[in-house]
Amino acid sequence: MKTLLQLNTNTNKTPTLPVTEIEHTAFCKTEDELPAQPLQDELKINIRWQEIPIEYLKLTVEELDKRIARARLSLGDRLMILGHHYQRDEVIKYADVRGDSYLLSKSAATNSKADYVVFCGVHFMAETARILASDHQTIILPNITAGCSMADMAPTDDVLDAWDDLMGILEDQSIVPVTYMNSTAEIKALCGRNGGIVCTSSNAEDVFKWAFQKGNRILFLPDQHLGRNTGLKMGIPKESMIVWNPFKRMGGHSEEEYNKARVILWRGHCAVHTRFTVGQIEMARQRFPDIRVIVHPECTSEVVDASDINGSTEVIIREIEQASSGSTWAVGTEISLVNRLAKENPDKNIFCLDPVVCPCSTMYRIHPAYLAWVVEALVNGVVVNEIKVEPEIAEHARIALKSMLSV
Ligand code: SF4
Repeated sequence: MKTLLQLNTNTNKTPTLPVTEIEHTAFCKTEDELPAQPLQDELKINIRWQEIPIEYLKLTVEELDKRIARARLSLGDRLMILGHHYQRDEVIKYADVRGDSYLLSKSAATNSKADYVVFCGVHFMAETARILASDHQTIILPNITAGCSMADMAPTDDVLDAWDDLMGILEDQSIVPVTYMNSTAEIKALCGRNGGIVCTSSNAEDVFKWAFQKGNRILFLPDQHLGRNTGLKMGIPKESMIVWNPFKRMGGHSEEEYNKARVILWRGHCAVHTRFTVGQIEMARQRFPDIRVIVHPECTSEVVDASDINGSTEVIIREIEQASSGSTWAVGTEISLVNRLAKENPDKNIFCLDPVVCPCSTMYRIHPAYLAWVVEALVNGVVVNEIKVEPEIAEHARIALKSMLSV
């Protein structure tokens, strides 16, 4: 799947920006509600999603709703729908299980009754479900172009080059590759093959501790912010964490700097979470002096420092659900989840930290028309958009995932 757009530069390689990242701004709005429109209307803003049979383009959300419900009823226990917290309301309402990427992949692995697992999330999540699920299960991603701009920032060839370069220059040869769940199966496999591990935003600190028992330094992929925030929580000074820039020769640092580093951070980020700023936090505090600010650790370290609490999606949900009635919260995470938290906690004042709201454009690609398409196809005995992972890649990625489970 080609998702990279070339940009001009004078550096050794041509920097690329995932087109999925550029698309993030296409859906930005100042109103915080983003009700689904018939697919043909959403496509008018000139975005390129997977082609779909024409009949699904025109259906209203109500018509789609009836058709998804009918197909689901007919498939019964053979179908399990997994929904990531960042999915639209019109899609998440069908989820048998809601959760973050890790919890959903584990659900796929533990519910072997379902022959078909329709993963309403993004590509790396469906791949992880494929790796962990039973062989008889078929994993389906409703819109095959639903990728993740962060995962796209760590292409396999660039990471393999960086790994070889680092092995060539590190005097002690001591480095443990750690990848965030938000990465391709190939990157997870690279970790599994080289004594490394996968982490989530909930267990990153424990995974870092595990890795430091095995080696002197970590290569952290692909999100520099989660890596830096985790290192800072563990007391690693900022200057001991350097960024590997894949567009610069040798990642942009000297051999001496890599030998001194404790954490080498891949130059990746999340387009959704890096929109939050310290200025937004200051504004929110001026408006509501008693406000609590909670952000995801994919935000910059400056934003994490200025917040009251930072944590994974599951932590954000738990903190807000358990908060006292009447409390006010500014939340730095994806807008579909923030809106849902506001609806489900009407006794609290909950809003998004960023007044201009931009949904994750790739999560947003799971329009209910795609869900209707894949479940109706299953009723007719046709599998659309099956996710497969090559056996060798799956085997090594599974090693890195199982290491995480043992932490
Ligand atoms: S919110 Fe960020 S990390 Fe998550 S899927 Fe979207 S782009 Fe990727």
